Amino acid sequence: MTPPPTQEPVGDALTKVTASLPGGGEDRPGQRRMAEAVEEALVEHHHLIVQAGTGTGKSLAYLVPSALLGKPVVVATATKALQEQLASRDLPLVASALGDVVVAVLKGRTNYLCRQRTAELEERGFQASLAEDGESGPAGERLVPQLQRLISFERSTASGDRADLPEAVSDRAWSMVSVSARECPGKFSCPQGERCFTEMARAHAAEADVIVINLHLLGAHLASGGQVLPDYGAVVIDEVHELEEVMTQSLGVELTANRFRTIASSSRSLLKGESPKAQATAVADAGEGLGLTLAEHDEGEELHLSQAENLATSLTLCDAALRGLLAELRKLPEDEPAGPRAVSAATRALEDVGRLRGASDDEVLWVSGPKSARSLNLSPIDVSAALKEGLFGASPVVMTSATVPLGIERRLGLDEEEVKALDVGSPFDFRRQSILYVPTDLGDRRAEGAEERIAEEISALINAAGGRTLALFTSRRALNEAADRVANQVTHPLLVQGASTNRALIEDFRDHEDACLFATMGMWQGLDIQGPSLSLVTIDRLPFGRPDDPLLEARRRRAGSGAFMSVDVPRAATLLAQGVGRLIRSGTDRGVVAVLDDRLAKAGYRNALLNALPDMKRSIDRLEVLSFLREIAAEAD
Ligand code: SF4
Repeated sequence: MTPPPTQEPVGDALTKVTASLPGGGEDRPGQRRMAEAVEEALVEHHHLIVQAGTGTGKSLAYLVPSALLGKPVVVATATKALQEQLASRDLPLVASALGDVVVAVLKGRTNYLCRQRTAELEERGFQASLAEDGESGPAGERLVPQLQRLISFERSTASGDRADLPEAVSDRAWSMVSVSARECPGKFSCPQGERCFTEMARAHAAEADVIVINLHLLGAHLASGGQVLPDYGAVVIDEVHELEEVMTQSLGVELTANRFRTIASSSRSLLKGESPKAQATAVADAGEGLGLTLAEHDEGEELHLSQAENLATSLTLCDAALRGLLAELRKLPEDEPAGPRAVSAATRALEDVGRLRGASDDEVLWVSGPKSARSLNLSPIDVSAALKEGLFGASPVVMTSATVPLGIERRLGLDEEEVKALDVGSPFDFRRQSILYVPTDLGDRRAEGAEERIAEEISALINAAGGRTLALFTSRRALNEAADRVANQVTHPLLVQGASTNRALIEDFRDHEDACLFATMGMWQGLDIQGPSLSLVTIDRLPFGRPDDPLLEARRRRAGSGAFMSVDVPRAATLLAQGVGRLIRSGTDRGVVAVLDDRLAKAGYRNALLNALPDMKRSIDRLEVLSFLREIAAEAD
């Protein structure tokens, strides 16, 4: 880490940094207020939540005080896009304006090539390793050239980071040269620990002033009791609206038949003799049994072990099989290089089976995935206690988002007096630049012909806008149905999610002003299209969670009679605000957000949703909206 810089007022430092931007030195009062509040929180050791609307320039508002702190600051983001923006654009700008600021990007272990795995791969040979992994035949043959490239990469790379591969490889090939945290025995038990790429990245991060990570790595740090990140003086969390969900995943457990298969196959090659090898087979069989039991249940079903006898029996068999295998693995000679990795994978699986068997009333047990590859999941209903202890108790935490969910403090485990809140608004004039349109005559969504009416409405809006549309849907089924119908009613190119990679679709959409992108909620976040390529966002319905979502259902039960307003509405409001936020990305953007769900105009709870949105002009008048869109299209042509 660099020595603490001579402290200069954060406002002056921010001016220095922004001076090098195009339109240099433009004063943004919201950005300045945010930077001062972040500095105060970091220096005076308190937590802060900042709502910073689009256009604030919030990343520089937290990076500048972080770089000046003189202690390492961890900056965690939800999306890869933002992580890349910080690492490749914002932090180099801060570093060059403020002098020496050491920056590190730290990723999860699966992003780095594992030298122990490549050593095992080379020692056993590709064919034997592929056969062991169940990849013999043509599929295995196709992997060979990729594995050869990965071995060459291991010899030439300084980082081992998958993102630095000169030529991309399939996920399957990468999985044969990487390990998850649960398989890795750790630096001191691994024969390759001294040369490990992950460990080198961690050592570099330990020297940095600003360490950029994603929320999943922060979750892994908390789940491991603080074993993943180097010591730090503060944490900044951007896209904090994702924090609760990511922590729920990170602090939970997931078990699949495939996990048992992998443990069995990598152990079998290490064990000598029929009886020890039979223990590996028993683990694979126990995993298959678990998979078959889970296939008897529906995707998304919540389970209670006391009522699911077959599942309880399956887990007991998994437990016994893993214990038997571990007993054999522990007999391996100490100099068996692959031993520690096999022991670690089996031990973590045994721990997870234990957690699933001992699920408490504060956790939900549920089934996910297709019938052929079901997962058994355990998720905490409430992550507040874990965050309070592992995150908020350790250092000041600054949290920010363009849309901070209602009541987030309580759900994260913060008392009101423990955290300061600030809303710096947005520099954009939403009333002048945009209209929020809610048609009120589309009729009941469950009535016959409803889908046809929705498609007609979307088509009329697209035709008025001259394409330039992002059509967002709350389900894949609704997306496909609308895309088929709209395709017959418009002449503009439709880019439909699933037809190509998301990245290719977004690039096409950005490059073709008359194109329309049809996407589901997965693409709502982080899409940043400025200028004439986007002047219309349609949202097919309010994004309420499914009634049968097991985790939401558990949270609703816990919240009691007020569950709709305290669980469902804040969640829908945040998602809706994220979708609406795709429209106006610069001071010159103009356009319409059409929410094709009249509950936003009529329902008693509508104000809770509207309050989460920017202050746009509101309209239920189709003619007014069509004419506004035509005017924007005419200006763009
Ligand atoms: S410590 Fe060993 S097993 Fe773990 S990631 Fe590094 S090289 Fe792989």
